[in-house]
Amino acid sequence: MSPLIERWIRPEILDLAAYRIPDSTGLVKLDAMENPYTWPDSLITSWLEMLKTTSVNRYPDPAGHQLVTRLRDVMAIPEGQAVLLGNGSDELIQTIALALAGADRVIMAPEPGFVMYRMIARFTGMQYHGVPLRSKDFALDLNAFLTAIERYDPAVIFLAYPNNPTGNHWSRIDIEQILQATNGLVVMDEAYSPFAADTFMEDLGRYDNLVVMRTLSKLGLAGLRLGYLCGPPAWLDEFNKVRLPYNINTLTQLTAEHALANIQVFTEQASWIKQRRAELIQQLATFPGLQVFPSDANFILLRVPTGTAEAIFSALLAQGILIKKLDDSHPLLDDCLRVTVGKPEENSGLIRALADILSP
Ligand SMILES: *Cc1c(COP(=O)(O)O)cnc(C)c1O
Repeated sequence: MSPLIERWIRPEILDLAAYRIPDSTGLVKLDAMENPYTWPDSLITSWLEMLKTTSVNRYPDPAGHQLVTRLRDVMAIPEGQAVLLGNGSDELIQTIALALAGADRVIMAPEPGFVMYRMIARFTGMQYHGVPLRSKDFALDLNAFLTAIERYDPAVIFLAYPNNPTGNHWSRIDIEQILQATNGLVVMDEAYSPFAADTFMEDLGRYDNLVVMRTLSKLGLAGLRLGYLCGPPAWLDEFNKVRLPYNINTLTQLTAEHALANIQVFTEQASWIKQRRAELIQQLATFPGLQVFPSDANFILLRVPTGTAEAIFSALLAQGILIKKLDDSHPLLDDCLRVTVGKPEENSGLIRALADILSP
């Protein structure tokens, strides 16, 4: 490495492996929790019509007022709570961390969990502490969590509800205990809310340290990059200070607004995905040797026979199906794979390929 780079790039960044996104050209993409469905023709036509009169020579609305108004309405954000937009919820995690950062300050999250919490702690020079979930069912280990809170006094706790990559949601009672026990902020990361049975959105205002973070990515707009954070104005006013002025571009603002004005298209797609999820879980459970975990999201966690995860992942890839291999990513995820729920033909393709691979 060039001495110049070694001298100036922060050591913790030099140590880091960049977040790797595999090339998926030509593959059935069941790795990234995308909504597989595209837009109906009528929605595309009205969208293109709208874009004709859109001027991109001007900067976007810095606060995205119209989009926020639409979000408040469609997502039933409680009155009196503020909304902050992010370029994906990934950016909101970073915004929160930037506002709280300090060398002795801790980001805490259950593990295995969403990897960006740890990575962004690193980027922003914060400490990270992961609290292991229970190995049997990936439930929160409340005692371990409360002990860790006392010991590390976290500035912020991220709770993905439901959790990625395990797919389950945790006990609401446990979460309420965490909210009461911590002196820090609690971010409920509801990236999978379109597929989930419960939400903390209606609990905003009941706790002065609770915020709810969501995204339009898993609903079907991953390409737009739009996340939104909801919570007490006193917190969000501070986060807003470290947000870059024009973080949500004009095309994203207009397109998201257009999509939200036609939200029934997306809620219908989400309900198809939930039906397909139930079918897929049932079909996967018929394979001997596969452990299928319950899911409240648009993906399913699997445990395959000991030592076979890599071979199964590669065999699926050879048949043109890309899933996520989690084996090796965390000790509690030994022999685990994650599959996103796809279209019916993609799911049946997966089942056929697995039958082929797993048959003795
Ligand atoms: C996908 C995901 C995100 C990031 O979503 P973007 O809005 O696309 O950045 C955040 N949290 C969890 C738990 C996720 O799975």
